[in-house]
Amino acid sequence: MKIKFPFLLFPALVFFVDSLKPNTLGVTNLFFVRILTSEKDNPGILAHELNHVKNMYITSLINFALTLCGVYLYSPTLLMFLGEVNWLNVAMFYAGSLGTYGWLYMLSDDFRFWQECLAFKEQAKYDTVSKLEKYAKVIADKYNTGKTYEQALAKLKE
Ligand SMILES: [Zn+2]
Repeated sequence: MKIKFPFLLFPALVFFVDSLKPNTLGVTNLFFVRILTSEKDNPGILAHELNHVKNMYITSLINFALTLCGVYLYSPTLLMFLGEVNWLNVAMFYAGSLGTYGWLYMLSDDFRFWQECLAFKEQAKYDTVSKLEKYAKVIADKYNTGKTYEQALAKLKE
């Protein structure tokens, strides 16, 4: 296991595993990254997965801030329901915010498409020959976003 810091002091725990679902080299859930042992020395795969973790943290902070503002500005009763503002309540609020990225990724085809394009662009920085066409095909075929190969390629080239 390795600890990486893809965003400020926010950690990612990287585990190397012997199997993942077919045609998959790496998977990220929250800040847990799993990468096939055979890809242990592939910096592109690591960069791809860490990009997901970084954006998970950024999304969670945005959601956390919006939630706190919403509670203070619009919903004093929600705050009363949750109890006083103390570290435990704030920590629980934040823990809940960590799930935002996963929900958006699961529920929104556009968000998933956008995030995979960002992650593959990060991965591409480590390629010595361009694999953008290959990545565009993977994005179009594998992630069920409703987007075409041409749309994926155009986004990767932005
Ligand atoms: Zn990905």
